[in-house]
Amino acid sequence: MQQENTDFFAWQARFGTEEACLKYLIEERWGNGFICPKCGHEHAHFLPSRSAQQCAGCHHQVSVTAGTLFHSTNLPLTKWFWAIFWIVSDKGGISAVRLSKLLSVSWPTARSMLRKIRTAMGHRDSLYRLSQLVEVDDALVGGKHKGKRGRGAQGKAPVLIGCESRGEKAGFISMASVQSINHETVRDFARRNLEPGSVVRSDALAALNSLADTQQHEARVTPPEKVDEWLPWVHVVISNLKRFLLGTYHGVSSTHLQEYLNEFCYRFNRRQWEAQLPNRLLSLCAMHLPVQNKAENC
Ligand SMILES: [Zn+2]
Repeated sequence: MQQENTDFFAWQARFGTEEACLKYLIEERWGNGFICPKCGHEHAHFLPSRSAQQCAGCHHQVSVTAGTLFHSTNLPLTKWFWAIFWIVSDKGGISAVRLSKLLSVSWPTARSMLRKIRTAMGHRDSLYRLSQLVEVDDALVGGKHKGKRGRGAQGKAPVLIGCESRGEKAGFISMASVQSINHETVRDFARRNLEPGSVVRSDALAALNSLADTQQHEARVTPPEKVDEWLPWVHVVISNLKRFLLGTYHGVSSTHLQEYLNEFCYRFNRRQWEAQLPNRLLSLCAMHLPVQNKAENC
């Protein structure tokens, strides 16, 4: 999906007004023609006062934001569009505190917006399966305090990570926040994230052996000094992830960890198209179904 490059000034010029944002959504949703969901009529008039399309046949009104990520929002679209711009404009993402200041919204509102956007990011990447040669490893991440090293450190959450190895570079990545690393969670990770029959390398952790159920699994005892030979890319990814979680988010609790992983993977998987990212994400949100966060409204 090619998209235009953009930057701060281009975004401001293009999406500086509510009308411009509505125009964009109309074009994204009905660029190939309007069809009334009630009567099937193919013409509509835009009602600016209602931010809705009105069917020329039966006068049924369809809100421009209905059925998108911005469904029932009580915020101006300009704020949503800026949130989308900022979350992908920096490798570190953006915290809810920072976003709430930039947009003049409350912290819970900013947090809820970010949660919805991260959910959309996760859905987009869930369509992809890692394939060919894949490195898989587990790590303990997050937590507010520095835990003991090794498995079981306090306040930290286990994560399974897959990274395509493409020789001189990494390919796509996937991550799952799990209760613990065991046969069941590893099997589930493989089912959701790996193309069956791929060559999958891991260290010799017993729980990872269930990768062999669906993959050509190659396990090797990996002392720390050998990690760069056997599992180089997945370890680069893990250390970048840890830096990301500590940097912008100052440690993350396990409750919403998957959402942060989604954000990290989404950006990493599109790192060659950095300047296109805001436009890609905006298009994704415009076409994404509504996301309801419990007891959160934005
Ligand atoms: Zn109609």
